Amino acid sequence: MFDNIKVAFEDKSDRDLSRAYLLFKTISNPIISKTLTAFVKIAMWLHLPINGVIKATVYKHFCGGTTIKNSQDTIDKLWESHIGTILDFSAEGKESESDFNRAMNETIASINKAKSENSIPFSVFKPTGLSRFSLLKKINNNIKLSEKEEIERKTFESRIENICKTASDNQVPVFIDAEESWIQNTIDIIAVRMMKKFNTKEVWVFNTLQLYRNDRVLYLEKLLTNARENNFLIGLKLVRGAYHEQEIERAKEKGYPCPVHTIKKNTDTDYNKALTLCIENIDIVSVCAGTHNEESSSLLINLLDKHKISKDDKRIYFSQLLGMSDHISYNAAKQGFNVAKYVPYGPVNDVIPYLTRRAKENTSIAGQMGRELNNIIAEKKRRKEV
Ligand SMILES: Cc1cc2nc3c(=O)[nH]c(=O)nc-3n(C[C@H](O)[C@H](O)[C@H](O)COP(=O)(O)OP(=O)(O)OC[C@H]3O[C@@H](n4cnc5c(N)ncnc54)[C@H](O)[C@@H]3O)c2cc1C
Repeated sequence: MFDNIKVAFEDKSDRDLSRAYLLFKTISNPIISKTLTAFVKIAMWLHLPINGVIKATVYKHFCGGTTIKNSQDTIDKLWESHIGTILDFSAEGKESESDFNRAMNETIASINKAKSENSIPFSVFKPTGLSRFSLLKKINNNIKLSEKEEIERKTFESRIENICKTASDNQVPVFIDAEESWIQNTIDIIAVRMMKKFNTKEVWVFNTLQLYRNDRVLYLEKLLTNARENNFLIGLKLVRGAYHEQEIERAKEKGYPCPVHTIKKNTDTDYNKALTLCIENIDIVSVCAGTHNEESSSLLINLLDKHKISKDDKRIYFSQLLGMSDHISYNAAKQGFNVAKYVPYGPVNDVIPYLTRRAKENTSIAGQMGRELNNIIAEKKRRKEV
């Protein structure tokens, strides 16, 4: 379904391909990848002038630009292949009120841009971009807040409501990203409240489910019952989850039961179960499969076929990150399915945590060739042969 390598790299020049090859070859080596990541951290701390190198290499591959405006070329290029863009302001680790307002305004700006452009089907925000992590942790643990913290909590919630209302008013759906399990309850409660308020006739608010968590299929079943009983529609982005190591380490350190699967196959099974449940309840669910996994993406295609749902039904989207799994995005889009890529943008310094996660994700385990590198090598070989 996704194995047409020519289609996957259609809009990449030989030069793009060589740069991608060099990048993935470098980060696939665990020792080099770890050393480089540590070096970047130290260099940033010492204010060494390394932004230019990062911008020309890893940033160029995984990010759209430093601003929404600078990301236009990426948006246009993806749209030529019928792939939408989800503008993702990826500045992370910010802790001041002005940073939180900036992040809210960036999401609102992306909604305003999206309302008049078919090439941007969704907007997105990360809850930790809108509040202090430590405050969210306190709320999650039901710890009594000080008066000042209570004001902060209200401001956080009104930022989310402001984004969701703008999304609903402008008819541009918004994704709420999922984060660490020790703040996720707080996010889920607000997300469901937003769905009840805004997803009455159409779905404008999407929460994210991480299927590496061992309680999420049950959570989904309860959410479906809640939605049917209370007459609201559900929007869900399904992902496996990005904080696997941290989840296991923290549970061990604090001595509570591990909230995530530790066997990959169990995560895969739950992901596919959740996808199936969403499609079986498509009368009240809109779903975005945020995955680079071929088996889950193929399953979604088979489910659409089985339930006689049209390929371009607006309730169903495939989504991958920019610079990752182009074979899924480009082949699915070519076959007429709805596809959109997360296009991270923001100042180079602020996007480093995001880029570090991408480097880690593409580091080979036990010397295996990564999925991205394999595909790039296959395309380089194909081009040589023609
Ligand atoms: C469009 C999009 C949006 C995203 N949004 C979010 C988000 O909001 N929040 C978030 O946390 N992540 C998000 N992610 C990242 C996502 O959670 C995954 O980290 C990433 O996509 C890799 O998983 P995969 O489904 O592509 O497939 P695969 O590569 O098949 O799976 C890798 C994933 O499996 C899980 N895993 C790995 N080893 C084990 C093990 N031993 N036992 C159990 N499970 C294991 C981990 O979750 C790992 O990331 C998003 C990804 C995409 C494409």
